[in-house]
Amino acid sequence: MTERRRTRTAAVGGILIGGDHPITVQTMWPEQIDSSRKDSVLRHLKLLKEYGCDLIRFTVQTPEDCRLLGEISAAGIMPVVADVHYNHTLALEAIKSGVDKIRINPGTIGVLWKTREIFRSAADSGTAVRLGLNGGSLPKHYAGLGAEAGMLAAAEEYLELCEQHQLKHVVVSLKASDPEVTYRVNKRFSESWDYPLHIGVTEAGPLIPSIVKSTYALTKLLEAGIGDTLRVSISDTMEREVITAREILRMLGLVSKGVSIVSCPKCGRAAFNTHRFMERWEDRLHRIDAPLTIACMGCPVNGLEEAKHADLGITGAGRKVFIFRHGEIIRETDEHEAEDAFFEELDKLCRRN
Ligand code: SF4
Repeated sequence: MTERRRTRTAAVGGILIGGDHPITVQTMWPEQIDSSRKDSVLRHLKLLKEYGCDLIRFTVQTPEDCRLLGEISAAGIMPVVADVHYNHTLALEAIKSGVDKIRINPGTIGVLWKTREIFRSAADSGTAVRLGLNGGSLPKHYAGLGAEAGMLAAAEEYLELCEQHQLKHVVVSLKASDPEVTYRVNKRFSESWDYPLHIGVTEAGPLIPSIVKSTYALTKLLEAGIGDTLRVSISDTMEREVITAREILRMLGLVSKGVSIVSCPKCGRAAFNTHRFMERWEDRLHRIDAPLTIACMGCPVNGLEEAKHADLGITGAGRKVFIFRHGEIIRETDEHEAEDAFFEELDKLCRRN
């Protein structure tokens, strides 16, 4: 792993992005919200935080959205990013309402004076800006360059504008739906600029294709020391986006919090149904903050030995279920009491960690 690229730091609410600050995870709210749903949104944000989400982005389409995002930001659960396209007055309104970061794509904001006004307002208020440059929606004058060169040229133009306006908190994203283009353009950008990078593959597809593409591009970038905050885009739940991002960071040793799950695919020898256990409990395991390895194995034949490194595990033989720690059985129960026994032991471990 290459040493992490040292960038400037952008303050986004209470979070620092870039420099040597921890790499953050973000997701995007998948629906339009309104004030009648504010309480349920806040409850959901608390849950997302348990999964490891650090920032949340919302679409802004009306002045009412701006006010609501200001209130959600003021609740202090996590920094709020307002995503604005086409309407620069809404971007100004969102900044005024107190959102923590504004994400604009200059390609959809239109004429340059509008972007200038947004930058001036963000600089005055200290609001962070994400300059979102997507290969598919570049400003018109870069359309002929192709995605990669177009994104780099647009980054140069708009970062100069950020510098003219003395914007202090700027994050850049350069995304394409092709993972290789995403890798190359971020790599090339980081050779010339020291702004923190929000990395991710855009429109990456449903769960499995997205995990494959995102893991490919993000692993290559993070191993090269590139990337300060990330979003895994999936046509699926926000929780799955956050879990996937955290798993990539954990696999690379860039985050140590949270549970690492070891579980077998099950075969004809299985006496314990690992599929059913994971369907029921995987989400709960991902919400644990303690750095633990948890194993769920279909049988003790290979299971105990192969999961010897697990802090806690569950397996079965015949009608019995065994709870084990580092390869040693610590409890023997029947299938009806197994899950209660397992979570009792897990709670004890979490209290210790
Ligand atoms: S742990 Fe047991 S049940 Fe699971 S795949 Fe290995 S042999 Fe099969």
